[in-house]
Amino acid sequence: MVLDSLASSLRETIRKVTGSSYVDSETIKEVVRDVQRALLKSDVNVKLALQLTKNLETRAKEEKPPAGMTSQDFLVKIIYEELLKIIGKDSKLVLKPQVIMLVGLYGQGKTTSAGKLAKFFNKKGMSCGLIAADIHRAAAYEQLDQIAKQVGVPFFGIKGEKNPVKIVKAGLKQLENIQVKIIDTSGRDALDEDLISEIKDLKQVASPDEVLYVLDATIGQQAGPQARAIDEAVGITGVIITKMDGTGKGGGALSAVSEINSPIYFIGTGEHMDDLEIFNGNKFLSRLLGLGDLETLMEAFKDTNITEEEAEESLSKLMSGKFNLMDMYDVWEKFAQPSIMRKMIDSLPLAKIPGGNKINPNDIETAQNKLSTYRVIMDSMSYKELENPEIINSKRIQRVAKGSGTSEVQVRQLLREYKAMKDNLKMMKGNRGFKKLLKNQI
Ligand code: GDP
Repeated sequence: MVLDSLASSLRETIRKVTGSSYVDSETIKEVVRDVQRALLKSDVNVKLALQLTKNLETRAKEEKPPAGMTSQDFLVKIIYEELLKIIGKDSKLVLKPQVIMLVGLYGQGKTTSAGKLAKFFNKKGMSCGLIAADIHRAAAYEQLDQIAKQVGVPFFGIKGEKNPVKIVKAGLKQLENIQVKIIDTSGRDALDEDLISEIKDLKQVASPDEVLYVLDATIGQQAGPQARAIDEAVGITGVIITKMDGTGKGGGALSAVSEINSPIYFIGTGEHMDDLEIFNGNKFLSRLLGLGDLETLMEAFKDTNITEEEAEESLSKLMSGKFNLMDMYDVWEKFAQPSIMRKMIDSLPLAKIPGGNKINPNDIETAQNKLSTYRVIMDSMSYKELENPEIINSKRIQRVAKGSGTSEVQVRQLLREYKAMKDNLKMMKGNRGFKKLLKNQI
């Protein structure tokens, strides 16, 4: 999960709010203090953090919950809305033939992101080609060439050519029939006039539809001035924040982005070509706060090679809240790949469950081992018990543990997780129009 420490502090705050019996000025004060501390710890700009918590405090004190909403839920809603203001605007990416120019300093993840983008467009059914206009970094040509081969897209570069304008001109011509052309430009260790004039020239010759600024999340707030200078020079249309997986302090990058007021298009969450997520503020924040995110769950399903019918059937069963142990096992087994499990765990609503989720998202391997144990336990259950786990009392637990060579603790754990999953999904169902989403998403 990205922004881990911010996520866990904010989830804790929300748990406190939803678990409190009433909201008074003391609760509000405590919440404001907690949120402020969480933001500053994750490197959100002080001014931004203070502004947010001030708004939060004023709104929490002055606004009254609408009829039918508890004051606890209303406070969570205000926290959510205020956080959304710094999380950033949604991606404005349009799936159309276009030229995309990537800009940014050295090592930010431009070349890697070029490959990830190519794969992204390919998956959406669009042809895509990469142009190597990074003439400063030795081996940049080879790196992009290799990435292009890896994702299976055309590549254009002129080895040894020192004039990037020439490369881009020829590249755009060569890739004329390709729908999306991505230009990887040079970086520098620090921002200098040379770089600015180079990207200005490139912008002129390429007339890109998008100029995406690639920003390493681990750089933090100090990226603000660089972002502003590049924005003034070439007009950044969107941002890709990379390495969100590698820092608990991604709040600094978010602050830098909010300075240039550009939408975040994508976030990079790993070194693999699939580790790119299109950015949606609501979705990102819901997941961060553990409020559940059905869309991401749907995407996790789409990433598997199971058929739409199978996915729909499994999901419908799960979401009806009427699923039994066998259904749960069926779903777990289908989605037992680590990356998919991580997405699923991230996307379930956790915050309102006392104690949160029992599966540690960082410990997928343990989760998978647990699955094999569960399989053994289930093999020792009767059909009636699998169909209707509610009838499993202590006596039956004892018998199942003995029969499967496991412990009563493990059997109880399986039953607890089954119940938690059922409760989580019921809550999710309550939150959104599942059927509608299912229809539109898969
Ligand atoms: P460039 O100089 O801007 O082209 O940067 P590169 O694309 O060469 O990336 C620099 C390093 O960051 C490489 O080792 C990449 O594998 C790594 N990297 C890029 N994006 C991500 C990301 O989202 N997460 C992680 N963990 N590493 C990344």
